[in-house]
Amino acid sequence: MTGLLDKHLSLWFGRAERFGSLIGGEAVAGSGAEIALVDPATAQPLFAYADCAGEGATAAVDVAEAGFAAWQALTASARGRVLWRMAELVRQRAESLAVLEAVIAGKPIRDCRAEVVKVAEMFGYYAGWADKLHGETIPVPTSHLNYTRREALGVVAQITPWNAPIFTAGWQLAPALAAGNAVVLKPSELTPVTSVCLGLLLHEAGVPHGTVNVLAGYGHTAGGALVGDRRVAKTVFVGSPATGRAIAETSARNLRPCVLELGGKSANIVFSDADLTRAAKGAQAACFAAAGQSCTAGSRLLVQRPVAERLMAMVARGAARLQVGAPLEDSTEVGPIQNARQHARIAELVQAGLNAGAEALTGGGRPAGLDAGHFYAPTVLGGVRPDMPVAREEVFGPVLSCLVFDEEDEAIALANATSFDLAGAVWTGDVARAHRVAAKVRAGSFWINGYRTLSVMSPFGGMQGSGYGRSSGHEGLLEYTQTKSVWVETDDSAPQPFGYAD
Ligand code: NAD
Repeated sequence: MTGLLDKHLSLWFGRAERFGSLIGGEAVAGSGAEIALVDPATAQPLFAYADCAGEGATAAVDVAEAGFAAWQALTASARGRVLWRMAELVRQRAESLAVLEAVIAGKPIRDCRAEVVKVAEMFGYYAGWADKLHGETIPVPTSHLNYTRREALGVVAQITPWNAPIFTAGWQLAPALAAGNAVVLKPSELTPVTSVCLGLLLHEAGVPHGTVNVLAGYGHTAGGALVGDRRVAKTVFVGSPATGRAIAETSARNLRPCVLELGGKSANIVFSDADLTRAAKGAQAACFAAAGQSCTAGSRLLVQRPVAERLMAMVARGAARLQVGAPLEDSTEVGPIQNARQHARIAELVQAGLNAGAEALTGGGRPAGLDAGHFYAPTVLGGVRPDMPVAREEVFGPVLSCLVFDEEDEAIALANATSFDLAGAVWTGDVARAHRVAAKVRAGSFWINGYRTLSVMSPFGGMQGSGYGRSSGHEGLLEYTQTKSVWVETDDSAPQPFGYAD
């Protein structure tokens, strides 16, 4: 373990070896198999912890039921104040959270710092919503007063991936708690630490014991047991389509709803009339930020023929200049891939593309001088055909597939020709075309002359193969509620349909 990691783990857990799940406000060591964490930047072991296993999930739901009652016993305003304190605590501990995230997830420290700031914003934003969630009165045509209540669901499960652990945890914890629910969060077994830290901070902010529980464990053990528990009212899942399908099946068997935030293969469309300098920079940010390990990555660049060669060359030259390096270096723009399995998958998809006739305009393997760790060079592939796996499947790495089109309709058809519908963008100087394309591309988020900007205030989610349900904004909050309709008879002499009083 690196000295720096040891120091920061000790700050949060007393001794680094005490890292485990947070259940009922207590640190609980797992009883299952050992899970070894590896440094993405060096491929050396970091530290190991024990899987909390299915028993951990069951124990967490047990205490979450009591945690739900305790959280509900507070007024909505009091819950909001707890979340507001949480936003302050995240800001106070921001640097330590960012360092832990950088080392374990392998993300550049500057990205981690920015994500931690966003997490504070999420708690602040939803703190404001906590006492503004109310129903309606409906002018029904009878003598009743009819009103609706927006009620919490109860105990909700959240399952998150390894690519943006603290961001995703804050993204889901904040609205769930603002709506009055108790939570059992299971982050990826590869990156559980900062999610447990958020759980600890929430307790410091005043969340009752049992209201927030964080499981350090595998998906097939802890995650499966959690989603299958009939006491869980809803599961919000962020991750791959394959796991999402399994979670939807389990939820359906229990007649429970779920939200699925899945993968993407987003198209970044550039017309000849676009500002090519901005589009070239935008294409790099779209695909290479977070080393491409981002669900919204603009991993397909669709370029109109007259400017195709020029733009692809600009993007490739820019990509070759990106600073690839160690996560803790301030200058690093692109860090390593989080794990060896994902690194191998990226290499395999690129090689298959090259074998099928694509050409690496830059990258296509390890960056020079970075022989240890899971580094992969920002890669721009020309000559890609839509039927190649690298053009259809989610690479989840720094690999940009360039495709050329002639007409607007062709660009839209290409953009819509994958099984994912998460995000996309168009670059053009023609305002009418920009809105036409935005309306016709299937995507939950779409940018015009930009890419990547997201806000906790605006809804986010997929269409079709990229999932269903929404996170962020008011819509994300409503996902964590259910509506009750209450009927109050206001006329004591109102006729009853039938019935006898003796
Ligand atoms: P994954 O599906 O392998 O794992 C995600 C989570 O599910 C992990 O916590 C894992 O332990 C858990 N899990 C695995 N099997 C399970 C099971 N049987 N039951 C319950 N839980 C189980 O995904 P990943 O490789 O960690 O993440 C990468 C994927 O996440 C990519 O496809 C990416 O696009 C997607 N993602 C989507 C969004 C979004 O908002 N749409 C955001 C980030 C990442």
